[in-house]
Amino acid sequence: MTQKQKKVVVIGAGAGGLSAAVQLARQGWSVCVLEKEDCPGGRLGALESEGYRIDLGATILMMYDVFEQFFAGLGKDINDYLSLTRLNPCYHLNFADGSRLSPSTDLKHNLDEIRSLCPADVEGYLRYLAQIHRRYMTARYEFIEKPMTRLREFLNVKTLAGLMRLKTLNNMYSDISRFVRDERVRMSLTFQSMYLGISPFQTPSIYTIIPYVEHAHSGIWYPHGGMNAITHALVRLLDEFGGELRLKAQVEKILIENNRVKGVLCTDGTTIAADIVVSNVDFPNTMRKLMPEGSTGTYTQARFAHMANSCGCMMFYLGSKQKYDNLGVHNIYFTHEYKKTLDQVFVQKRLPDDPAVYLYAPSRIDPDVAPAGHEVIYILVPVPNLAGRVDWEKEAVAYRSVVYEKLERAGLPGLRQNIVFEKSADPTVFAERFNTFQGAGFGLAPTLFQSGYFRPGIKSKKIAGLYFAGASVHPGGGVPVVLVCGRHVARQIQADYPV
Ligand SMILES: Cc1cc2nc3c(=O)[nH]c(=O)nc-3n(C[C@H](O)[C@H](O)[C@H](O)COP(=O)(O)OP(=O)(O)OC[C@H]3O[C@@H](n4cnc5c(N)ncnc54)[C@H](O)[C@@H]3O)c2cc1C
Repeated sequence: MTQKQKKVVVIGAGAGGLSAAVQLARQGWSVCVLEKEDCPGGRLGALESEGYRIDLGATILMMYDVFEQFFAGLGKDINDYLSLTRLNPCYHLNFADGSRLSPSTDLKHNLDEIRSLCPADVEGYLRYLAQIHRRYMTARYEFIEKPMTRLREFLNVKTLAGLMRLKTLNNMYSDISRFVRDERVRMSLTFQSMYLGISPFQTPSIYTIIPYVEHAHSGIWYPHGGMNAITHALVRLLDEFGGELRLKAQVEKILIENNRVKGVLCTDGTTIAADIVVSNVDFPNTMRKLMPEGSTGTYTQARFAHMANSCGCMMFYLGSKQKYDNLGVHNIYFTHEYKKTLDQVFVQKRLPDDPAVYLYAPSRIDPDVAPAGHEVIYILVPVPNLAGRVDWEKEAVAYRSVVYEKLERAGLPGLRQNIVFEKSADPTVFAERFNTFQGAGFGLAPTLFQSGYFRPGIKSKKIAGLYFAGASVHPGGGVPVVLVCGRHVARQIQADYPV
């Protein structure tokens, strides 16, 4: 049978599902992507209403080279699909004492900025940069770029030596504290763990590579139209390679016979036969909801109850009739007590008294995402996921006021009066809309024992023809990493089913 005759069903049109689908379609497989919503993208989706186009999840494009390579690997030029601008400064960091830091990809600028906060930390920042490049290269090429489907890929001299080099036993905050002393500078080099939905006080220190990627490696980029433009590009590629995308097609069960996939059953009762199934649904929920009883191997309900998950998000998607000139595209508002706030979310698992807020305002540089003279404002507050101690029905409304009051005090006066469009989401919405386990935002937490070979893998060990793509499987979360995951899946399928 040729690949064209062999059928792949991909469940979910998130970045991971679309990445796998595009590569497989290009390899010649007959590919059908089934997405339960009426639009593709998942956490790389957008809401479009009343002239506003607001990204739902991902907003920061980093590891630009991964995107460039992704398109190049398909024989395409990224510039034919996306219009990209590098952001300088990368973001504006607003501290509770009123001071500010705006790191960029310009080293001298960063040194001046750090000097203005704490002259003694300039030397420490340089020492941090000097040692981190090697760790980044190890993380990227010994771990992210390897599919980790076999134990020997992990347990070999090179990888183990790499692991030692990564010095992952420390946490991110204590690792950065070896280099810089000022709490604000420490915050500026550790808050990035929140991109993965975990506390820098619990995150393996390897994630100190993220500020390096932002400041010194490839920077932060903005795709015209917002991050959702990447989803549009992936859908266009899928179409060009002859793949099919079906919207409003929710899968209820993966059909399995004699430990081999047979296809999927949709909630409308239709059955779609397939030789290969790739699930892009959050891995724990693929196992918990889509797999027939007895076919999940070691991934039992009890096991998931003990796995570390990422935090949830409280989101506000706003249209403001007033523009705020003091905003950049990416803005962070820190709290008075960094550790206390993070411990309230990650240890006590309750809503923090003083929320840390990320605010994204793409209309600062992109007139096409809002009506003329209006601002798009996206607010993200890290909160516990549904395993936490929050009663969302009771607490969400009051917490909205806490968040808005903070922002109004921090430089967005009259914000609430200026809102002409508003939608919100909390982990209960995430559980429903994105079908994520415990309504978490970012997938299984990348703790040491949920990383590399120890993370759920891209290929089922029990069921032939079943593969997984997405943030909760290796190599992990974040749009560029999930795109790499899709590529691993396609290559693995090609290796398992050669023509
Ligand atoms: C608030 C937020 C901010 C983020 N910010 C960034 C950022 O700035 N930069 C960055 O790189 N990353 C960011 N991320 C992470 C990034 O968005 C994710 O890692 C990535 O988009 C996950 O892609 P995925 O393919 O794994 O899953 P998803 O995007 O969740 O895709 C899964 C898809 O499956 C569909 N689906 C679920 N169940 C079914 C079913 N039964 N049948 C059919 N379809 C189904 C869903 O509707 C969805 O479309 C952010 C995430 C969040 C939540």
